[in-house]
Amino acid sequence: MQRLQAFKYELMPTGEQQRQMRRFAGSCRFVFNKALALQKERYEQGEKKLGYAGLCKELTAWRNGAETPWLSDAPIHPLQQTLKDLERAYSNFFAKRADFPRFKKKGQGDSFRYPDPKQIKLDQVNSRVFLPKLGWLRYRNSRDVLGAVKNVTVSQSCGKWFVSIQTAREVERPIPTGDAVGIDMGVARFATLSDGTFFAPLNSFKRHQDRLRKAQQAMSRKQKFSNNWKKAKARVQRIHSRIGNARRDFLHKTSTAISQNHAMVCIEDLQVRNMSTSAAGNTEKPGRNVRAKSGLNKSILDQGWFEFRRQLDYKLAWSGGWLVAVPPQYTSRTCPCCGHVSADNRQTQAQFLCVECGFEDNADVVGAINVLRAGHARFACEVSGAVMPPAAGTHRSDSGAVQCHA
Ligand SMILES: [Zn+2]
Repeated sequence: MQRLQAFKYELMPTGEQQRQMRRFAGSCRFVFNKALALQKERYEQGEKKLGYAGLCKELTAWRNGAETPWLSDAPIHPLQQTLKDLERAYSNFFAKRADFPRFKKKGQGDSFRYPDPKQIKLDQVNSRVFLPKLGWLRYRNSRDVLGAVKNVTVSQSCGKWFVSIQTAREVERPIPTGDAVGIDMGVARFATLSDGTFFAPLNSFKRHQDRLRKAQQAMSRKQKFSNNWKKAKARVQRIHSRIGNARRDFLHKTSTAISQNHAMVCIEDLQVRNMSTSAAGNTEKPGRNVRAKSGLNKSILDQGWFEFRRQLDYKLAWSGGWLVAVPPQYTSRTCPCCGHVSADNRQTQAQFLCVECGFEDNADVVGAINVLRAGHARFACEVSGAVMPPAAGTHRSDSGAVQCHA
């Protein structure tokens, strides 16, 4: 099967290369925003949305025009990729997977992508990569790149530049090892397995929250764009990046541990996105318990459940296993012993006690056992020929190729 994998390294650019990369990222942002504004304008005038080809034509006009001649200094392919990104943002919106595309702001996800492997040269021996209009860039070579280069993304985060090299290679289809397991995701315990083991939450955000708030307050007191403001801003960014690193590390360790030891992992099909957007409600339908819910939502987002599930999905595919998402109905209220369903079974958040047969266990473990059962039932359906969609939110092609970021 084909395995897609991304390898990410920190770049060590020269001053001139840094300026160039900032310019290219800025040009891509400009093109994205200009194209988005154009599409909005067309919509308001009742015109049809331009397709990718139509946008590319516009781009050529902008590059050759008198208003924005500096656009032609940036490499053409990354600019076109930006238009592709906008197209994807629109189709995600129409498929209800995402909100309406938003204008990009400077410093938010600054990046650009080179799609053509023929224009990219990778010299691993000398730890350098060649990119059009940037030349040879040195990078911190922490591990070998495996497979053939498909595309390269350059991005900036907290003042550092990174290169992400997407590759493809043929690997043997692995034979899965281990049993099936159900997972109950929670706030008090990040993940509880049906065999009783559990992973405590990291809550890196919570731990750093006070420091972050103080840093943000300090920043707001400074004169905007002054030197002290810049220093305070750098501090806020540093805390953000530390939180992000700790969380990524935690999620990867946990998802690796679970996927290595199990052939089938069942998980509740929680609509993390819905949970996080619905709390505040809207003007016609204001949300109830906004404060309590946003607290829960914050922990959910903080812990990165969605990212966790994405990682489980591709890591299981790499080891030959399956991720099965099951509907979350009654998993916390059903007795695994006698099958009695009642809200009374769960008197407290932590304890499960069946009012019918007296079965008693940790509530999260009970949830995980029920998830595993539901997963087995769903898996049996699939084997008997019924159609089962892949775990929601992830897309896996028939070849077993899975997208991931190392
Ligand atoms: Zn019971």
